[in-house]
Amino acid sequence: MHMAGKRLCHLFIPARTHLRSKSSFSRTNDSPRRHHFDRLLVLDFEATCDSKRGTIRPQEIIEFPVLNVETNSFEIVGTFHRYVKPEVHPTLTPFCTSLTGIIQDMVEDEAPLKTVMEDFHKWLLSQDLFNKEFAFVTCGDWDLKELLPRQFLHTGQVIPAYFKSWINIKMIFAESTGVYPRNLPHMLSHANLVQSGRLHSGIDDCRNIAAVVRFLGLQKNSQWRLTSFLED
Ligand code: AMP
Ligand code: MG
Ligand code: MG
Repeated sequence: MHMAGKRLCHLFIPARTHLRSKSSFSRTNDSPRRHHFDRLLVLDFEATCDSKRGTIRPQEIIEFPVLNVETNSFEIVGTFHRYVKPEVHPTLTPFCTSLTGIIQDMVEDEAPLKTVMEDFHKWLLSQDLFNKEFAFVTCGDWDLKELLPRQFLHTGQVIPAYFKSWINIKMIFAESTGVYPRNLPHMLSHANLVQSGRLHSGIDDCRNIAAVVRFLGLQKNSQWRLTSFLED
């Protein structure tokens, strides 16, 4: 087994596993190997919310930003950024606006998630990503493990296969630095990176996560691997 750093060992799972069956995951785990991703897609959703977590159900995506990071230079080579109109709870709470900086006018005339998803798929095609090895990178598992599946359950939409596995950057950060980060500001400060923009703006969060991706990517001991999977 390949070892990265002295502290933790890794299972290396190939990219494009969203095209593979569950059984091939276990086959891969039986003989782990390192894999190269051509692109890392940094994603950070913002969603409807209130000060008391759990009072708005389903939470709905209101900001959908994704940065396409090329893994030789770790530069951003493409951006998808849309605000999304929530349909179940169309009016943003004052708490949500003050947390995310997203005001009602920014979502009012935007398309609903179904349309934005279709546009996102077209963007993936336009970036030639289906001919490349790519993986989503998120800060924590909430975006793709909880928010998106719950919203899709509510609307009856099918989750595209490519959203069923991803890299939780906190895991890679922990393996590379030996420190398990509490949150994005913790990773930035540990890496001596200056936070850009405002916390809880989806696009600014993505830029800051992309800065951490670059920081880790330029450290030769960082090993990118899928860390999280949706159960079928
Ligand atoms: P984040 O990516 O950390 O900016 O958060 C994503 C989403 O989680 C936000 O758009 C909110 O819907 C929710 N959220 C984050 N922090 C809080 C909080 N302190 N209270 C309630 N909801 C929150
Ligand atoms: Mg987030
Ligand atoms: Mg955010």
